Amino acid sequence: MKLAGRVSRISVSQTMEVNDKALQMRARGVDIVDFGAGEPDFPTPDNVKRAAVRAIESNFTRYTAIGGTPELREAIVQSHARLFGSNYDVGECFVNVGGKHSIFNTVSAVVDNGDDVIIPTPYWVSFADIARYAGGRTIFADTSEAEGFRLTAKLLEKSITPKTRLLIANSPSNPSGAVIDDEEFVRIAALCRDRGIVLLSDECYSRFLYDGNKPFSLGSHPEFKDTVVVCGSLSKTYAMTGWRIGYVLGPKDLILAVQKIQSHSTSNPSSIAQKAAVEALTGPQDSVDMMLEEYAKRRDFVVKGLNAIPGIRCMSPGGAFYAYPNISSSFKRGIKDSLDFSAQLLDKAHVAVVPEAAFGTSEHIRISYATSIENLDRGLKRIQDFMATAGTPEGLRGDGESRRCR
Ligand code: PLP
Repeated sequence: MKLAGRVSRISVSQTMEVNDKALQMRARGVDIVDFGAGEPDFPTPDNVKRAAVRAIESNFTRYTAIGGTPELREAIVQSHARLFGSNYDVGECFVNVGGKHSIFNTVSAVVDNGDDVIIPTPYWVSFADIARYAGGRTIFADTSEAEGFRLTAKLLEKSITPKTRLLIANSPSNPSGAVIDDEEFVRIAALCRDRGIVLLSDECYSRFLYDGNKPFSLGSHPEFKDTVVVCGSLSKTYAMTGWRIGYVLGPKDLILAVQKIQSHSTSNPSSIAQKAAVEALTGPQDSVDMMLEEYAKRRDFVVKGLNAIPGIRCMSPGGAFYAYPNISSSFKRGIKDSLDFSAQLLDKAHVAVVPEAAFGTSEHIRISYATSIENLDRGLKRIQDFMATAGTPEGLRGDGESRRCR
């Protein structure tokens, strides 16, 4: 079949290959330690599940307003105001089918063919594909490990071209866990505003901040009301990845554009998930606190464990639930890049991680610590064994699944 040209601008995620292989191995009974998952390992809180059941039983099962019920939009703006001190009104809020959809609709509404879209590296792979699908040209602003993978205004300035239309920022970041310093983020937003650039701030991990850092949103700065678009999601915060509720907070003209796009694609998000989302946002928040506490313990455990492995170094991430160790010392020993490292780690040590090739650079891997301490411990031991032999004749022996792993 002859397909539309825009489809050839995007590709299925490079992480799929490793994921698929991990699934196949597991199906054959291989004991895989999975550090690949980009989602909480906790169940959706009971009060949220019960609200969904009530919605079904009371026949709340029809179309709703395209951008979400007034009740849910009110709950989103109120919860954002409580957490971040913002002051959006309901007309500046639109509910989408997950945070990815919020980003997709926003980028579609803002980016024209030939516009430049700045994406700091390392980046969540969908940012680049969504920008290209909209006809944009991606310009990557390379942050460095030495600076904690944090975007700065100085770095951004170097990437701006006369055609720059959009910056996509994500703090805390997937994959690095980096958190942009609040004051620096304000400088970045001011630079964008002064240069006529829209700043899309992906706040999907904004509740998962460590070391006593306070939640921060550019949405609480009225001076950026016309140039900052916040994209948020309930997926990670409330362990609701399958429910598909995300939202956009931004100026009314942007919201109307998102409404037009969504009215001809998905229409409203699931009515049942919307009721569950109202409960998540307005009900008790102790499950979020519990998850944050647990992630903080796991972060300390995994970062310490990784740094104790010869040849690996790992900075301590300020947020989200990913560790981002540098494994490039193994390149001297015959491993080609992080994709090769991940493939061999899976084949020989039965640990699934996401290679950095998927995020725009190639010296790191992403380890999700949205998994138990016991699993982290098992996986770390396997990685340690793997590192001890990686690239050596013993490590390269393709005995894959037959190797006994701790
Ligand atoms: N933004 C980032 C950086 C993510 O990592 C994800 C999910 O992995 C999302 C947005 C979207 O999440 P969802 O569509 O489940 O709300």
